[in-house]
Amino acid sequence: MGTRQKNPITFWCEHGSHEVTEEHGPGQAPRYCAAHHTEAQRALNALRVKAHRKRQKGPRTGFERPPGRPRKG
Ligand SMILES: [Zn+2]
Repeated sequence: MGTRQKNPITFWCEHGSHEVTEEHGPGQAPRYCAAHHTEAQRALNALRVKAHRKRQKGPRTGFERPPGRPRKG
């Protein structure tokens, strides 16, 4: 009693667009297979960074400190 077993489940890997069968515990089905997981995370991260940079490159509304002015005192 009470032995928790991981069952092989078949799911669709979103990164490689292929079906894969892996052992996973109960819960939500994963979105990527083990082979593509790292790659998918990296791709997602790159997209996030890209979006972040795009946002930062937008119209300048904030105050910008003039360069080359040493603080005195
Ligand atoms: Zn995959």
